[in-house]
Amino acid sequence: MAISGWASENVVMSLPPLVEPAESLSVDEIRRYSRHLIIPDVGVAGQKRLKNAKVLCVGAGGLGSPALMYLAAAGVGTLGIVEFDTVDESNLQRQIIHGQSDIGRPKAESAAASIREINPYVNVVIHNTAIDRDNVFDIFGQYDLIVDGTDNFATRYLVNDAAVLLGKPYVWGSIYRFDGQASVFWAEHGPCYRCLYPEPPPPGMVPSCAEGGVLGVLCASIGAIQVTEAIKLLTGVGEPLVGSLMVYDALEMTYRKIKVRKDPACALCGENPTVTQLLEDYEDFCGAVSVEAQEAVVDSTITARELKEWQDAEKDFLLVDVREPAEFEIVRIPGSVLIPKGEILSGEALATLPQDKQIVLHCKSGVRSAEALAALKAAGFKDAVHVQGGVLAWVKTIDPSLPSY
Ligand code: ZN
Repeated sequence: MAISGWASENVVMSLPPLVEPAESLSVDEIRRYSRHLIIPDVGVAGQKRLKNAKVLCVGAGGLGSPALMYLAAAGVGTLGIVEFDTVDESNLQRQIIHGQSDIGRPKAESAAASIREINPYVNVVIHNTAIDRDNVFDIFGQYDLIVDGTDNFATRYLVNDAAVLLGKPYVWGSIYRFDGQASVFWAEHGPCYRCLYPEPPPPGMVPSCAEGGVLGVLCASIGAIQVTEAIKLLTGVGEPLVGSLMVYDALEMTYRKIKVRKDPACALCGENPTVTQLLEDYEDFCGAVSVEAQEAVVDSTITARELKEWQDAEKDFLLVDVREPAEFEIVRIPGSVLIPKGEILSGEALATLPQDKQIVLHCKSGVRSAEALAALKAAGFKDAVHVQGGVLAWVKTIDPSLPSY
């Protein structure tokens, strides 16, 4: 495909439209999309391109919600949804495509129902599955453009690698607390995600939104950028974020655009690629838990039920909650003391821990406590253990009257 303009500074000026126009718009469609049709740069031709477009949204969660709703409203003819999860009450603070009555329902189905209500002219394709190395090519192959709304590194690298290997563009976004980022990755015309982030962060270093939280409305800010970029790519309007990273800070209320160059040494899209096919195991590549933590938990893991038995038997141990103070405020296991993981990893808290008592660690779900356990064992607390599944397992199996989060 011809590139319509590389500036001397590696900046994409504009790209040709990704999609050919549909043959025609119906009278109903002309009425519906009239506010688009009168924009000179979009016009009837642009709207016909949207009608012909096939866009896949990976995930119908925080970013997928606004993305799917606006893509549907804009008149994208075919919208695919890949999502295996079901709607949970804790999703509703930000995943606005789902409602109260959708709790427990598959997210893909709930999202499809909302889309049909927004725009009945959209053909919705549901992929009620987790995306993996075996199905990603088949699914991506059915679409012109992919919008990545995933929330974990393993899927993010899988999406990137598959898109690059298929030569497809995708619009990426990520959110955490008050911060968001977005870009368009298209190896043919600019960098890919691996050019920007060659390696996943070390396990346990970057908390997920489930662990660290996210301001709900941030999804709209970043999801809106993703949809804007998608529409620009599909219709060939404006300058896409190819080669640029948009960084949003909600507290400062700033958007910064940072230039990102294609990395000639990129393992995937560089001059001598070492990654020429999908990896065997993306979970493994991103390592949810470090090797040290994996080793530390062997024979040093107890269940929530065992913890309860230890308490009932008045066994002498110290129960340490390694989560953050805000989480401790929400829900706690009776008898626990709070020492955030960071204070254990830095060594700061080690002197305050008793040498003559067994230490039992727990966190929200068992990942952070495993990391802290590795540090404690390395510091000589040989009989320390951690609670599998953390406080969530406690709530589920011991005291369901307590809140989950
Ligand atoms: Zn690359």
